[in-house]
Amino acid sequence: MMKKDKKSSKEFDDYVKDILSLLDKNYLDLKCSLNYKEPYELLFSAILSAQCTDIRVNLITKNLFEKYKNINDFANVESNDLEKDIKSAGFYRNKAKNIILCAKKLIELNNKIPDNILELKKFPGVGRKTANVIRSHVFKIPCIVVDTHVKRISNRLKLTQKKDPEKIEFELMNILPENNWLRFNMQIINHGRKICSARKPDCKNCFLNKICKTFIESII
Ligand code: SF4
Repeated sequence: MMKKDKKSSKEFDDYVKDILSLLDKNYLDLKCSLNYKEPYELLFSAILSAQCTDIRVNLITKNLFEKYKNINDFANVESNDLEKDIKSAGFYRNKAKNIILCAKKLIELNNKIPDNILELKKFPGVGRKTANVIRSHVFKIPCIVVDTHVKRISNRLKLTQKKDPEKIEFELMNILPENNWLRFNMQIINHGRKICSARKPDCKNCFLNKICKTFIESII
């Protein structure tokens, strides 16, 4: 959202502060929605999560990370076998291929995942969103992860009017204080799951309904 003049800029800044303060009050227990122990497990989970729910991914990886115990196991598995293990994630042929290629690339890098976004994007199946998931959770580097919830809710709150995830990412980085970025991602994911769902947002019971611009416009 463009800041037009001093007054509207102050109004907008206050609006953002109110949103962040309400998110902080309502979402305290924050953790990554994908279960993992090792950084490479988060990388593979994030690859699996494309077009798939995190709940489904966690169900798959519970068995997957017991069956394949380290990066070598993933690098050496036959694609057909891995496909069977991850079939319910959808797009399983591509995902299996990418996971195996990522495991091989990690071995070349002495099992070290890079923290640089450009290096991360060189991994098969890793786009900007997945790269930022790794950077934020593994390396605690402040960044904005624009997933489906962040995209939808940032638009509903009118923090941005952009549709392109990369543009949303940069706009949110411009609007939000850097020390909020990491928790904003997790808070908005929680909010999208619990209240502001894609199909049926529960505006009546939403703690943001007194300030949410989309809701206010809908009732006047
Ligand atoms: S008031 Fe409605 S649209 Fe606005 S954030 Fe809450 S649930 Fe979403």
